[in-house]
Amino acid sequence: MAAKKVMVIGLDAAIAPNVYKYAREGHMPRVKHLLENGVCGINSYPPFPSITPPSWTTLATGATSASHGVPCFNVHIPGTGLDDMDQAFDSTLVQAEFIWEAAERVGRKAIVVNYPTSWPPRMKMGHQIAGAGLSPNEYRSRDVKQWEEGFKASLAYDQLWTTGIRVLGTDLDVEPAKGWKNAPKAAKLLEAKMPLEYRRAKDKVKDRSWYALIVDSEGKGFDRVLVCASKDAAAPLAEMRLGQWSETVVQEFDTAIGAMPAACKLKLLELSASGEDVTIYRTPLAALKGWGFPAGVEAEIPLKGLPMPYPGYLAYRMGWLDLPTLEEMMEMHHEWLAEAAHHLVANKEWDIYYMHVHTPDWVYHTYINSADRATAENEETWRRFHAAEINMYRSLDRLIARIQSGADENETVFLITSDHGAKPVGPNVNPGTILLNAGLVAFKPERQKAEEEGEEFSGQFKWEKQETHATGTLAAKFERLGEIDWSKTKAVPNRSCFIYVNLKGRDPHGIVDPKEYEKVQEEIIAALYNYTDPKTGLKPIQFAIKVQDARFFDMGGDGCGDVIYAPHPHYQGPHGGLLGSARAGEMGDVRTIFLLSGPGVKRGETIERTVWLKDVVPTLCYLADLPYPAQCEGAIVFQALEDPDMKVRECETIKRRYEKMRKSLDRAPMC
Ligand SMILES: [Zn+2]
Repeated sequence: MAAKKVMVIGLDAAIAPNVYKYAREGHMPRVKHLLENGVCGINSYPPFPSITPPSWTTLATGATSASHGVPCFNVHIPGTGLDDMDQAFDSTLVQAEFIWEAAERVGRKAIVVNYPTSWPPRMKMGHQIAGAGLSPNEYRSRDVKQWEEGFKASLAYDQLWTTGIRVLGTDLDVEPAKGWKNAPKAAKLLEAKMPLEYRRAKDKVKDRSWYALIVDSEGKGFDRVLVCASKDAAAPLAEMRLGQWSETVVQEFDTAIGAMPAACKLKLLELSASGEDVTIYRTPLAALKGWGFPAGVEAEIPLKGLPMPYPGYLAYRMGWLDLPTLEEMMEMHHEWLAEAAHHLVANKEWDIYYMHVHTPDWVYHTYINSADRATAENEETWRRFHAAEINMYRSLDRLIARIQSGADENETVFLITSDHGAKPVGPNVNPGTILLNAGLVAFKPERQKAEEEGEEFSGQFKWEKQETHATGTLAAKFERLGEIDWSKTKAVPNRSCFIYVNLKGRDPHGIVDPKEYEKVQEEIIAALYNYTDPKTGLKPIQFAIKVQDARFFDMGGDGCGDVIYAPHPHYQGPHGGLLGSARAGEMGDVRTIFLLSGPGVKRGETIERTVWLKDVVPTLCYLADLPYPAQCEGAIVFQALEDPDMKVRECETIKRRYEKMRKSLDRAPMC
């Protein structure tokens, strides 16, 4: 039986061999079922660079970055300054047709959930939820500069009110309760004002304060906190004992774009018996509309879990949250995605379902070095984070099972995929320093002098900046050197894997004559290959080519830099500038997941052939008789098919029958 529908669920940065291993060990029963009833491509690779926006774009268009125009985490528009970058999440940047746009040509519909580069929606007929960033209510539109503001949220990021001193915390001044209506009977009552802060708000939100009523119920010490919209405890927004989450709080807020309902939860993280020490965490304020297509569909989506712009990983890094609280927030994130998706899958007409879930990427950027036995500080740390990693995959398995339960197995092809894997963070290799040492970059002397008078330049980024290197803009790469002197600079690095020649006639401050272009490219490549890391004695650059050779690596087009390079897998962050073949540590692996099952697909087999992300779309189109997107460049993974010749045989049968019918009509007597 031929497939009628396709359902793609992508796990950002999931480590493919771990997914297969944990499934076989029983941690992921739904994925185990898919493995036993489908085909697993163990040599599946992301394109280069191994980074989020280009990979997801390829997965939904079948096109390489040379065609779809999204070469990295950011895009550089030729002719603008070489340090000018836009984030690459906007669907208007994608120059290729999405699988769901092609399907609409023949009246077939899609559901697209939380899919990077899909917002604003380009579909006309289906349903879409989120996609403007990595999570619902996160916005990475082009005007939000990555290293200035990073990203925006609707309504706002999370908040911590505390009587202690915490990074970015909001002060909580506890004093005797005064002027309350409907206060509960208690031995003692204290109060504290809780002004709301709207960090990273996409649209300005009108100031508001909540009020905490801290209760000593029986004179045995303070034991609970009520959070109220005003000093009236008749209908508290939240009531919590130590370590408890509140119920979901839903409130309407005045914003610059009008009244907006938003939801959050609170957790009481600290409450001393004396009532003097109180810490309350609020999850991000998650807008309950503005992320659905067609507009208004949001009202149908059940509010189970929370559509949070991010589930707490930065708060964890700042020391606000412990690991169990972070895991509880992951569950809220997954529950909302699963229930929203299930609602659409079960109630709307669809032929294509496409979804991205970001959790593994947040997890690995937060603690991969502790979860990998080769890099963990000690055995006890490894055990704790390894358990948390497995817990994440177990939660993802429940999400997959919930969504797939809305689809008919007899008519749906399921694909579990990913945009890249991850590996432990290694030492940094700084292309800026390499170019500087080779005399290809110059800085304004007064700034250099100031730098010299202050802190001596070490040639290395501070730790905090190491990770930004993967996607970092020019400013991040030269963070400690000051202002570039463009009149003496021949080349600069930018984004995860590109070096730009400062070319006359193309770039605003161009100094390199086009006749010298190739010579400068060669100087750059020589400098990269010649560099030896003074700390390790290793040559960190594994690969450096001219853009003229980019097509050979499925790259090219206007968005590409003039030289493309990749470091040795020992270096850099979990993925990004690394080749898809990079492996490091005990479990680090940048390959992707390819797990295909359903009508027309072999059962319980592993295939060795190389599967590229660009092969996904044509394979799905073939299986479910969908039109091929206009720029699709991949090939059908026919080794995964039960009978690769089935359609040829069907055509032959139809031709034979037609011939027979034509002949019998030719012989029909005239009357
Ligand atoms: Zn990613």
